Amino acid sequence: MTSSTDIVIIGAGPTGLMLACQLSLYPNIVFRIIDRNAGCTTQSRALVIHARSLELLAQLKLVDKALAQGTFVDAMKGYFQGKCAIKVDLTQVRTKQQPLNTRYPYVLFLEQSTTEQLLESYLHEHGIQVERNIEVIDIKDFGDAGAEVTLSNGEILRPRYICACDGARSIVRHKLNLSFSGRTYSESLFVADCEVDRSPCSTKEMMLFCESTGLSGIFPIRDNRFRLIGTIHEGNQDDIHLSINDVQKIVHTRTRRSDINISNCSWISVYHSHHRHITTFRYRKHYFLLGDAAHIHSPVGGQGMNTGLQDAHNLAWKLAYVLTHSAHDRLLDTYHDERFKVAESLVNTTDRAFSFISSPYWLTRFFRLYITPYILRFLVQPILNSSQTLRQYLFRRLSQTAITYRSSKIYDYGASAGQFHRTTPLPGDRFPYVIFEPCYYHFVIFANQQQSTKVKLFIDFVKEKYSKIVRIHEEDLPVQFEGAILVRPDGYIAYRTTIFDINHFQAYFSQYFLFESI
Ligand SMILES: Cc1cc2nc3c(=O)[nH]c(=O)nc-3n(C[C@H](O)[C@H](O)[C@H](O)COP(=O)(O)OP(=O)(O)OC[C@H]3O[C@@H](n4cnc5c(N)ncnc54)[C@H](O)[C@@H]3O)c2cc1C
Repeated sequence: MTSSTDIVIIGAGPTGLMLACQLSLYPNIVFRIIDRNAGCTTQSRALVIHARSLELLAQLKLVDKALAQGTFVDAMKGYFQGKCAIKVDLTQVRTKQQPLNTRYPYVLFLEQSTTEQLLESYLHEHGIQVERNIEVIDIKDFGDAGAEVTLSNGEILRPRYICACDGARSIVRHKLNLSFSGRTYSESLFVADCEVDRSPCSTKEMMLFCESTGLSGIFPIRDNRFRLIGTIHEGNQDDIHLSINDVQKIVHTRTRRSDINISNCSWISVYHSHHRHITTFRYRKHYFLLGDAAHIHSPVGGQGMNTGLQDAHNLAWKLAYVLTHSAHDRLLDTYHDERFKVAESLVNTTDRAFSFISSPYWLTRFFRLYITPYILRFLVQPILNSSQTLRQYLFRRLSQTAITYRSSKIYDYGASAGQFHRTTPLPGDRFPYVIFEPCYYHFVIFANQQQSTKVKLFIDFVKEKYSKIVRIHEEDLPVQFEGAILVRPDGYIAYRTTIFDINHFQAYFSQYFLFESI
């Protein structure tokens, strides 16, 4: 049987599920989501949900459920050879005087299994079923003429777009022969989810331990369940099978506490970490690669799943606008432009951090064990304690709220008109604080009460011409100038103006939108 559809999403991990949830917001898009597994993962895997991902869940009205089921982590402590060298108080990143520019200034721990269940339940509630127990077994590429996707049940799909959300071993990437350049680290890592009595950390803290035998971490999951992680320096992945007793021994040695007992391990796994990414997130006209299919890196900073969720968020509205709102195909090229740079920089940063914390090279080990604790205790800690700006900078980097797309080609055609104060966010920056209704562009008009005729004419023009895709928000704010900021459906700034020049706006917008037909 051969079927056609607008979009096929291969893989219902967090990335594929987020893409499906976002596409489901657009009623006229026909898509299918296929996964070879019978259900969502049962493993806790990605534990950290960062602020930017919480904003995405807020757009789907899932954030309250996520916050209710997760654990808020308030502090991170770093121990070197038994002594605490640094404590980062995460509650200090926000103060009344200097609030953070997100509604969710938290580090939330939520098991990946729960995140996936939340997203899949959302799909069910909106009448969409993940097609499970079906594997994609082949992809036939016909160049510009399209592609065929062969399923394990014999069905052949001829979709307009193929979204590969099929994880690190992506069949799409393999069939298209796309290079996944990078390397595999020689050190093995272990992960174990267990009950811990007398945990050295509370349920609101995460702890890292650096010893000559390796690095370990203890992170709260919920109640007395904790995630234990660590490096293992000998052998390779295939040779190592850790038992609960092995994990217990590692915990005793690395925490230097023999009174900690672990039990009821629900998951113990030993794996090698990699850092790799593809070089094109859009291949030909039809293929998009997202999430682990496009980039993988070490677990430093808990960024993997969060990055996949944002890939999906970035692509979904562009696909929807091309399919239903006469947007130009080149809008889809900006998916690569914007997300490739994020992935490339993330893979490089996490590589540097992971290489430093895990390298067995004697000089790096010496520096890590004997110099780093002093740098942290006597330099970093005092600066962190006194500098709210530094605390907020670090939080924004970690939480992915600092990501900008300023250099995206979408802004090549003059997305700024007029003079702005230097603190005004730029096109490509995330619009802070507000979570707008999904699917629409939002024009936020900052104007004094007595709007000039020019502003009124501009607003009337946008209302008349773009009513199907743009919502207008007229804010009566005590600002020094009249200005307007256009926000994309994914919450990033598309355009800003202080001169309300209709021709300029039209020239910019028509680069991506064939506006006569809107
Ligand atoms: C131990 C561990 C800890 C981690 N901790 C964190 C963390 O704290 N924070 C973080 O952000 N990330 C973390 N990660 C990474 C995170 O789990 C991944 O980045 C995330 O799962 C990627 O999601 P994905 O949807 O892109 O891919 P996956 O989760 O791998 O999903 C791919 C899906 O595609 C399906 N599939 C594959 N091939 C086919 C096929 N041929 N046909 C049909 N279906 C197919 C699979 O069944 C699967 O459901 C961790 C990972 C591990 C292993």
